Amino acid sequence: MRRTLFEEVHEDFRASFRTVLQREVVGGEGRYGEWEREGIVPREVFASAGRGGFVAMAVPERYGGAGAEDFRFNLVIGEECQAAGVGSFGLGLTLQNDICLPYFLSYCDERQRERWLPGIASGELITALAMTEPGIGSDLAAMSTSAIREGEHFLVNGSKTFITNGINADLVILAAKTDPRERHRGISLLMIERGMEGFERSRKLEKIGQHAQDTAELSFSDVRVPVSNLLGEEGKGFVYLVSNLPQERLSIAASAVAAAEAALSWTLEYVRERRAFGQPIGSFQSSRFTLAELRSEVDIARVYIDRCAQALDAGELTAEDAAAAKWSTTELQGRVVDRCLQLFGGYGYMLEYPIARAWADARVTRIYGGTNEIMKEIVGRSLGL
Ligand SMILES: Cc1cc2nc3c(=O)[nH]c(=O)nc-3n(C[C@H](O)[C@H](O)[C@H](O)COP(=O)(O)OP(=O)(O)OC[C@H]3O[C@@H](n4cnc5c(N)ncnc54)[C@H](O)[C@@H]3O)c2cc1C
Repeated sequence: MRRTLFEEVHEDFRASFRTVLQREVVGGEGRYGEWEREGIVPREVFASAGRGGFVAMAVPERYGGAGAEDFRFNLVIGEECQAAGVGSFGLGLTLQNDICLPYFLSYCDERQRERWLPGIASGELITALAMTEPGIGSDLAAMSTSAIREGEHFLVNGSKTFITNGINADLVILAAKTDPRERHRGISLLMIERGMEGFERSRKLEKIGQHAQDTAELSFSDVRVPVSNLLGEEGKGFVYLVSNLPQERLSIAASAVAAAEAALSWTLEYVRERRAFGQPIGSFQSSRFTLAELRSEVDIARVYIDRCAQALDAGELTAEDAAAAKWSTTELQGRVVDRCLQLFGGYGYMLEYPIARAWADARVTRIYGGTNEIMKEIVGRSLGL
């Protein structure tokens, strides 16, 4: 189905990003396979993407950004990374552009903006968002990392885990309890900066997929964080998280649909070539039915995601719409990559094939950004039951 979401300017942006991706990540000088083995994308790649205008596009021009407050540009980045089979590289960028940046744009005061936005837009400052702890994930209000005010500092103690960009990050948006007696109302957001004394990163965590992503544990031991690193107001952290999560979930959902589309296109190509019993395997009725079902489901999901993107840009995307998008598309992604992998036979299980990596990369999308059970809770609560 013809998409009507994008205009010429987005397609030009897509073409430029695709060229850079081919040159610097996938082929040419690209070393994606090496990054997957090393479990991290080199920092210079973010800076190079920044020079190309592909990082934090929404940063206003006066801070060195493009001032493009248009989520369609963000979608292009995630979609192209999935289409090129480099989703775990894309995750680092979409985390910066779609998930972390809104906190800087919405809650930083002028002095903080001047300090951080230019480096974020240039890709020289890499960002992360740290909510999850070893003891809690879904139940954020039960977090135990504390930030106790002592004069002009907060004294931060605790640990966070599964943090995307955790090793590369220069700026970590930390959710911590400034009032440990409270649940939601005790949470504040603080900016942790690279090099602060008492802030340590663990080894990179070993995952079943997303191999180029430097997911890490972070620990905080008597870290003295200046009060000037508080984002917005004390005690409002949970409200800020809740208001930004719909964009985070839409980002995950859009990448899920793009990943499913990519899997489908690799599979269509493969089943045309691969033969069994004297005919292309795509010509068996069971293959055609499978691919017809997947094609239909992906197209239908795409329309919903495009509509959500319009709603986001219009300031109308609700928590329920975004939750519905996230759970349904990530379940779809899981089904699509699994059924496509089956059509590759034994080759589908070999990591040299993008479908194998896409299958492993897909599993986490049903977990992070809020598990799909929590997404259904959000939708379910709105039904007045
Ligand atoms: C690769 C990766 C990257 C990540 N990146 C980040 C990041 O950058 N920043 C960050 O802060 N976090 C990140 N996370 C953490 C992620 O968001 C959490 O893992 C997720 O929110 C679930 O939390 P949990 O792991 O503690 O699971 P739990 O909360 O312990 O949940 C375990 C199971 O119980 C279910 N469950 C929990 N509560 C309910 C309920 N009320 N009703 C029904 N079922 C329920 C869950 O759905 C799940 O199936 C990442 C995780 C991974 C794996």
